[in-house]
Amino acid sequence: MYTFELPSGTEIELKEMTGVEEELLTNQRLIRNGEAINQVLKNCTVRLGDNDKPSVNDILDLLSGDRLFALVKLRQISLGDEVELELACPNTGCRMNNFVSVNLDDSKVTPYTDEREFSFTLPGSNKTVRFGLLDGHKEKRLAALREPNISSAMLIRILEIDEKAPSKKSLAEMSMRDRSALRQEMARVDAGIDTAVEVECDGCGTRIRTRLESEAAFLFPGVRL
Ligand SMILES: [Zn+2]
Repeated sequence: MYTFELPSGTEIELKEMTGVEEELLTNQRLIRNGEAINQVLKNCTVRLGDNDKPSVNDILDLLSGDRLFALVKLRQISLGDEVELELACPNTGCRMNNFVSVNLDDSKVTPYTDEREFSFTLPGSNKTVRFGLLDGHKEKRLAALREPNISSAMLIRILEIDEKAPSKKSLAEMSMRDRSALRQEMARVDAGIDTAVEVECDGCGTRIRTRLESEAAFLFPGVRL
């Protein structure tokens, strides 16, 4: 058994993945609606704080940074720290494959503070936005959207704008300046584990950006999916 402290401070005890979890992670239907990860985390979480029988709902209750941190640790204890990425250059005139090695132990972890709700005054309109953090339930709602976009990801964290419930319209009508400031503020108070990978193509220098968890090599090293 492996014990870690989540970015929120809660202790988590994990056991390594088996063939059961591999089956879950290759089930396209479960992957699409995000259920695969929740099920895998539930199967492999032996203890969450004082809770020694965590349910899927307990896994969904976790903040997104905790969830991703747990997934990275699960990958480390099951498959090791090294992830060998093969990243195709996005430049259509190049398309070169770049081989990048990442050690998961080097991923930066930012702990959450005790605050769960935040207040921010938009610089343009002077309106006050209250927003929260992303958790598994909100991730699930985002995954269920037909066309998730930058607005839905922001909207799902907003509790109130000037003490009124937010709507798609209120976000669409928000100035670009206010949206940008709000997005930055949301990122600033966020915590968790940094899984962003950014390299320059060896062939043409184009910047390649990805996230570890979206690469096949993260959970299926040596397999081309
Ligand atoms: Zn290139």
